[in-house]
Amino acid sequence: MNSKKLAFDRGEFSAALNNTDLWDLIIVGGGATGLGTAVDAASRGYKTLLLEQADFAKGTSSRSTKLVHGGVRYLAQGNIGLVYEALHERGLLLQNAPHLVKRQSFIIPCYSLFTKLQYFIGLKLYDWLAGKFSFGRSKLLSRDKVIGYIPEIEIKGLRGGIEYWDGQFDDARLAINLAQTAAEQGASLLNYFKVTGLIKTDNGKINGVITTDIESGKAYHLKGKAVVNATGVFVDEILQMDTASSKPLVRSSQGVHLVLDKSFLAGDKALMIPKTADGRVLFAVPWHEHVLVGTTDTPLDSHSLEPVALDKEIRFILETAGQYLIKAPRRNDVLSVFAGLRPLAAPDKDTGATKEISRSHKLIVNQSGLITITGGKWTTYRKMAEDVIDKVITTVGLAPRPCVTRNLQIHGCVNQPVDDHLSVFGADAALIRAMIIDRPELDEKLDEALPYLRAEVVWAVKNEMARTVEDVLARRLRILFLDARAAMKLAPKVAELMADELGYDIKWREDQTDFFIALANQYLIGDKCEEKYICK
Ligand SMILES: Cc1cc2nc3c(=O)[nH]c(=O)nc-3n(C[C@H](O)[C@H](O)[C@H](O)COP(=O)(O)OP(=O)(O)OC[C@H]3O[C@@H](n4cnc5c(N)ncnc54)[C@H](O)[C@@H]3O)c2cc1C
Repeated sequence: MNSKKLAFDRGEFSAALNNTDLWDLIIVGGGATGLGTAVDAASRGYKTLLLEQADFAKGTSSRSTKLVHGGVRYLAQGNIGLVYEALHERGLLLQNAPHLVKRQSFIIPCYSLFTKLQYFIGLKLYDWLAGKFSFGRSKLLSRDKVIGYIPEIEIKGLRGGIEYWDGQFDDARLAINLAQTAAEQGASLLNYFKVTGLIKTDNGKINGVITTDIESGKAYHLKGKAVVNATGVFVDEILQMDTASSKPLVRSSQGVHLVLDKSFLAGDKALMIPKTADGRVLFAVPWHEHVLVGTTDTPLDSHSLEPVALDKEIRFILETAGQYLIKAPRRNDVLSVFAGLRPLAAPDKDTGATKEISRSHKLIVNQSGLITITGGKWTTYRKMAEDVIDKVITTVGLAPRPCVTRNLQIHGCVNQPVDDHLSVFGADAALIRAMIIDRPELDEKLDEALPYLRAEVVWAVKNEMARTVEDVLARRLRILFLDARAAMKLAPKVAELMADELGYDIKWREDQTDFFIALANQYLIGDKCEEKYICK
């Protein structure tokens, strides 16, 4: 069990800014990549600061397909090295965060005997590459077995299928647990701190950042021996702070997911459709008692922290899912829709074409010493972080120390997770229950129809640095991603609980609720909810 006493407090971390003259490392960006880098650096004993402009995992890292996987698709592309590395990392993640990662069975329905054989051979290779980190052996399935496992499957022309195993997780919760792990190792981490500039020495070497506390408006000039740019699709903004004429490195490609009621895939098996009309794979995965379906790959000319699904992406997912499920999902079955952005290589200046940045990550060191990390996958965040810190050591000459994260338990790690509503909190579940004994009123549900307790909101504020209603409903409890209308209904109550904990007034509660309702409307398809409290 790993539930050390936390010093995970925004006030304490802000105070550290005034008390620290020189950081070994300042990381910009609090998604999977930046947080993993903070864990690696702090656990090697370096004085580490991470600054995130919004909430931890507000960007792409809360908007993934929630798979801890080697990437069957990359195997089909012949990228064996990448798949091997990711399968290895998949095993380490299950070992170090078993409260958040679980083995998941996937069924590929096959409508031709040739493809059935083809996929089976590929998946046997996948199993073999996993070696001792195997999550389970792939099996050929008869038609009856596929129907038994997924009664909702379209049976016309079905010739059987294949079962294979991968991992499934909660991305935003892993992000917060990584932040807590980094803090336990001595790092300072601040959400709602935007980096607005870089500081350089007279000879042009980066030695710090300018950052603003979004809550107070206060600006800070902070010194660091190294600065790491881990800002996902925002990497070019930071690169341009270094060199104004810097050419764009990335362009965004949007991936959309739809969330449906569990009845569309009632069992515990996930569905994998290996080749859709656009040549990608489509997943339907059970997640927190709902079904997540996606994704798409749509190049965009702009990027934002709150990307919006395009109508054609929604149609594509519904139509494709409808081809494989007897009960085709319709627009008004969608409980929530969310979009995330992957960094693609920016268009070639001669041809104007974009191509996928290798799913393997890219590490770039500018003349100024700025270190930029982009690409990769959630699954491989640990290896990416190890590579970043190895590069930091050689770039700025930190005293070399070995990476220790392969066997470092992630905050909340508990070897035998209890399978109940609080299980995602891992070892912290016991502390939440203890808090409820002290304050029995927190045992009350936020809504009788939903499993979430008032205690979870208070816990998120006190111990997980939740600052806004959105932080709680989107990334600590995940309700916005599961059912946007249900999330809207909870917003006033969550605002009230948070205001009590944080000492805010009625105006804050109303502003937070209004902001959240407007945001949550973007996660709905069709009729929007105009009025608070009455969304059904
Ligand atoms: C649709 C989709 C599905 C995916 N599914 C999977 C999957 O199932 N499994 C898997 O392994 N991988 C998956 N991935 C990949 C994975 O989600 C990403 O590799 C990972 O989340 C990227 O993390 P990141 O930290 O690099 O970027 P982000 O999560 O975007 O983090 C960057 C952070 O930098 C912050 N930032 C930007 N500018 C500043 C600034 N000036 N100051 C301070 N902070 C700043 C942003 O606010 C943001 O939080 C998926 C990706 C997409 C798009």
